[in-house]
Amino acid sequence: MRLTICYLYASGMNIYGDRGNVLTLIQRCRWRGIDVRLIERGVGERSPLNDIDLFVAGGGQDRDQIAVSRDLQDGTGAALIEAVENGAVLLAICGTYQLLGQYFRTGSGEVLPGIGMFDAWTVAGSRRFIGDVIVRVRLEDREVELVGFENHSGQTFLGPGTRPLGQVLIGAGNNGTDGCEGAVHRNAFGSYLHGPLLPKNPDFADHLLRLALRHRYRDDVPLAPLDDRIELAARAAMIARIRQRGRVRSGVRA
Ligand code: GLN
Repeated sequence: MRLTICYLYASGMNIYGDRGNVLTLIQRCRWRGIDVRLIERGVGERSPLNDIDLFVAGGGQDRDQIAVSRDLQDGTGAALIEAVENGAVLLAICGTYQLLGQYFRTGSGEVLPGIGMFDAWTVAGSRRFIGDVIVRVRLEDREVELVGFENHSGQTFLGPGTRPLGQVLIGAGNNGTDGCEGAVHRNAFGSYLHGPLLPKNPDFADHLLRLALRHRYRDDVPLAPLDDRIELAARAAMIARIRQRGRVRSGVRA
C-alpha cells in the first residue's frame, strides 16, 4: 500500500513543531509497511496536487500568512478545494487554518483573503489565547479527548456551512466564547492545536490515515493496530495535569 502526503508551506508555517504532524503520519505508515511519498510545496512552487491523499500545513505568524494567503489565491487554494471535494484529506493548524476560511483580519487591520473552504472567518482580538487545550471530538464511532497547545490572537467564527472539530473542555479553541474548536468540511480539518497535535493524539493521526487510504483505494482499508500504550498514557497524564491546573486556577481546589 502507498500514500502521497503533501506538506504545504513548511518553511513559513511551522511553529511549535507542527512538522511533527508530518513525521507522525510517516512513521505510523512505516510501522505498518505503507510506503509514503512526501512532497513539500512552498510559496511559489507549482508541483501538481492531483495525486495527493493527505495535505498537512502548520501555523505561522501574521507576516508569514501574507505570503501564504497570496499563494493560496494564486491557484493553490482552488486546487486544494478541488482535491478536498474529491475526498482528499487535509489537516491545517492555526495560521493556515485561518486562511482556509473566508478571510483573516490581522491585528493591524489588514484583511488577508482566505479560500472559503471552511464557512468561517477570523478576526484578530485584543488578547492572545495561550495554553493547553482539551477538546472532545467524535472520531468515527467513539468520543476521544484531544490534547494540544494553543497560541493565537485570531478568533475564528464558524458559519452554518461548517461544523466544529470538537467542543472545548479546557482552553479557548476557535474564539474563547462559543466553546467550539476547529472546523471540518468533508475530510478537511482545521484546528488551533499545536503540540504538535498528531504525536499527542495517535487516534486522530490514524483517523486521518484511514481517510487517506480510503481516498487512495476508494474503499475501506483496514489499518493494522499499533501499540500506543505509551502515547495514550502520556496523553492521559497530560489531561489529568491540565484538569488539575484548571481546578487550582478556578479555585475549586487549592
Ligand atoms: N498569527 C495567527 C494568530 O495569532 C496565527 C498564530 C499561529 O499560527 N499560532 O492568530
